[in-house]
Order: sequence, then structure tokens, then C-alpha cells
Amino acid sequence: MWQNWSGYVSCPDTRVLTPGSEAELADIVRQASRNNQPVRVVGGGHSFSPLVATDGVIVSLDALQGVVEIDKPAGIARVRAGTRLFALGAALAAEGLAMENLGDINVQSIAGATSTGTHGTGIGLGNIATQIVGLKFVDAEGREISASPTDNPDLFAGGRVALGSLGVLTELSLRLVPSFRLRLVRGKLSLDECLARADELIARNRSFEFYWLPHTDAVLTKAWNVTDEPVDQRGWQRYLSDVVLENMAFGALCRVGKAVPALCPPISRFCASLLSSSTQVDASWSMLSTVRQVRFNEMEWSVPAERGADALREIRALIARREFPLMFPLEYRWVRGDDIWLSPNHGRDSVHISVHQYVGMPWEPYFDAVQAICLTHGGRPHWGKVHSLAGPQLARLYPRWDDFLALRERMDPAGRFLTPYLRKLFGLGATAG
Ligand SMILES: Cc1cc2nc3c(=O)[nH]c(=O)nc-3n(C[C@H](O)[C@H](O)[C@H](O)COP(=O)(O)OP(=O)(O)OC[C@H]3O[C@@H](n4cnc5c(N)ncnc54)[C@H](O)[C@@H]3O)c2cc1C
Repeated sequence: MWQNWSGYVSCPDTRVLTPGSEAELADIVRQASRNNQPVRVVGGGHSFSPLVATDGVIVSLDALQGVVEIDKPAGIARVRAGTRLFALGAALAAEGLAMENLGDINVQSIAGATSTGTHGTGIGLGNIATQIVGLKFVDAEGREISASPTDNPDLFAGGRVALGSLGVLTELSLRLVPSFRLRLVRGKLSLDECLARADELIARNRSFEFYWLPHTDAVLTKAWNVTDEPVDQRGWQRYLSDVVLENMAFGALCRVGKAVPALCPPISRFCASLLSSSTQVDASWSMLSTVRQVRFNEMEWSVPAERGADALREIRALIARREFPLMFPLEYRWVRGDDIWLSPNHGRDSVHISVHQYVGMPWEPYFDAVQAICLTHGGRPHWGKVHSLAGPQLARLYPRWDDFLALRERMDPAGRFLTPYLRKLFGLGATAG
């Protein structure tokens, strides 16, 4: 039995195989070929979309973790694909190095995170896949194949965000920066003031994001900047705000809202009344990440940066009109554009708008309506989150879509890494590779 983090995707009859070496991994792929079974790789299982689900073979690289080699003068580390981000952060820090940016949590595997275009925030900072300078796969025949800007450049352009559809990534080479500390400042603004001042706030801070609490006009702002200040020794304060308030107390409120949905607006207003300013200092890999224990389902759209504010205002009007029972804040982040074929940030600086619903509460009408709004603003869905786009709709959003499909066909003509969900996503026939 395998299931994803939110519990929405599950494969009751599928066994998860955990190879202990690359040779064992290659054997598993070859064996699956002989048995005509699909192969899907799982990282941390934190995607909300059914990318990993299969009735074939699920492979976990949990036993293939760690840093293989660090080239300090070049600032490049070769890491095993199954390495969890928190473990990577700690290992790199021990060598005086760090990843340039991270997302909201650090429990994903590095390959799982990059394969869906996982990102943090910062208009000058690309998604995590933009930190990749080299890739190593095991292909559908169990053979090793590498890619970099000069070696198999098409595989490099298409393979950094590929949803596990080209092969099993076994190693990634990452461009790093010297380790640094971040000072996080939390604050409270009104949504209108925050949107009006957004250009100034993103220019003034290395990373900036905000959370709008639905049914209120309040936003929680988060701004991170590099600092020489020492790491906070107030660990208990962080535990109180990050674990006790944001998870345990918020989780209890969510259970109340689920039982009595009419209480969701007052609960959101109560949470807004608790927002206050605070600061924290820690190593970058720790300061960028939060603890998320309250389970939810999520949809996220990447829209051109200049369209973000209008999209959010329309979503605010939608929530007021349809009175969806919501307690989770909407998250609003910035990501620099890139050249990766299937990156949601391909060719444009973007704003990412994420909407959430507490696990077990209905999300379909809300997410459908948000999707409709974001599509009118040129939105592209986060690959790891809930959406209902497929084939031609996605082809219109990605200028290099056909190049990616040709690369996929070349890498995996028999469709070993495909499932019915991925065939539909890529607009492929039900059985043809
Ligand atoms: C609480 C929570 C917070 C989140 N925060 C953020 C955030 O801040 N920013 C953001 O952008 N996203 C965020 N996400 C989404 C998450 O980062 C992505 O869904 C990510 O892909 C999950 O990584 P994973 O290791 O769990 O991968 P999985 O979900 O296990 O897999 C994701 C994809 O990667 C493929 N894959 C995994 N390993 C390999 C490999 N070795 N070779 C080839 N393919 C592979 C899988 O086949 C699958 O297609 C969040 C999700 C949750 C649940």
C-alpha cells in the first residue's frame, strides 16, 4: 500500500521497491520491462497530483541518498537523487555551502522536488531545478545516461523538470553558493496595501511572500534577507509559533471548521487577529522551511508576474461571491523565469498563487473556479498539485511542449515510465507510447 502525503492518492496493491544500489535499480527497471509493467519513482510522496500512482512498480530511492562529491572551488555538489532536502541542507552546511533557495518545506527528495518545478520565493531566484548543472538517469533499458548543458543538451533542457517520465534520476549536480544566514521578518498588512506595495517589497527583500487569510482583509508577510547576525537561541519561541500555533492550534481549529463549515469565516478572522510581527535568524536551509503537520489538498498556478495581482483580486471576489468554507490562507510568491522546457516559469518571471483546503473538506468547486480564473491570466499549473489540464491545453501553455514529447518518445519509446494519468497529461493515446 502506498499513499501520498495528503492521503488523496493511494495504490492499495502496489509494492514499493527500495533498491540498495544503482545496479539493483537497473535490474528492477529491466525486470519491469520483461514483465511489461510501468515503473514510477517516488521521492517524498508530497505531490498532490497522481504522478506516482501506478498498478505497476513504485521505486523509492530512500536507500540511495547522500552527497557523492563536492567540488568546492567550482561550488558544485554531486548528490544522490533520493537525498531529502533537510539532509542535504545539513550536509552542505558542514562544507560551508548552501542551496540558493528552497521551497516552503524541506522533506522532499531533491529529484522529486526538481522534477515538478518546486520553488520558493524571490523574484531574482529561479525554481530549484534551475540550480541543476548535471543529471544522471537510468533509462528504460536499465542503462546509465548523463546530461549537462554540453552533454546531451536536449535531455538537460527537458530532463530537469520531467515528472519522472524520462527515466530514473540517480544523481544531480547542483550549483551552490557559500552558506549564509537569513533573517526572517514576519509582519501584517492589509491585502490591498500589500498588493499596492508589492513592487517595492520584492525589490527591497531577497525573498518576499505573503499569505492572505480568506474572509478577511489581512495578510501575513514574510521577508527574508541575508544577515551576519548570530542564529537565534530562542528555539522555544520558534517551536511555539511554528509548531504549537501554526500546526497544533491551527489543526484543532481546522477540525472545528470541518465539523461546522459555517464557522470557517470566523475561524479565519480569529487567525487574522493573532497575526503579529516577529523576527528569526537561522541558517538559510532551516530558515526558509516550515513545519507542515496539518494535512490539506492544494492547487497552485504560475501566472506572468504582471498578472498576479489581478488574478488574486478575482479570486478574492470569487470567494466572497461563492462563500466557500475556507480556513487555509492563500499563498502568493514570486519566481524568476527560466529556460527549462516544462518549467512553469519557462520564459517568464512569475507569481505563484496557491490555494488549499483542509483534508476531508470539499475542494473541487473551489479549485475548479480558481483554475478558470488563473487560465484567463495565462496560468500554468504546478505539476505536483491538483489541476485538471491535459494534452492540448498544456501544449498551448508550453512553447517547447512538442520538443519535450519528442524527447520522451526517444528516451522511453515503450512507455515504461507512463501511466494512464501521464498518458492523458501528455495527450498520448491510451496504449501507444
Ligand atoms: C506540505 C507541502 C508543502 C509544499 N511546499 C511546496 C513549496 O513550497 N513549493 C513548491 O513548489 N511545491 C511545494 N510542494 C509540492 C512538492 O514540493 C512537490 O510536489 C514535489 O514534487 C514533492 O517532492 P517529493 O520528493 O515528495 O516527490 P514525489 O511527490 O514523490 O514525486 C514527484 C515527481 O518526481 C518524480 N521523481 C521522484 N524521484 C525521482 C527520480 N529519482 N527520478 C525521476 N523522477 C523522480 C516522481 O515520479 C513524480 O513524478 C509542497 C507539498 C506539500 C505536501
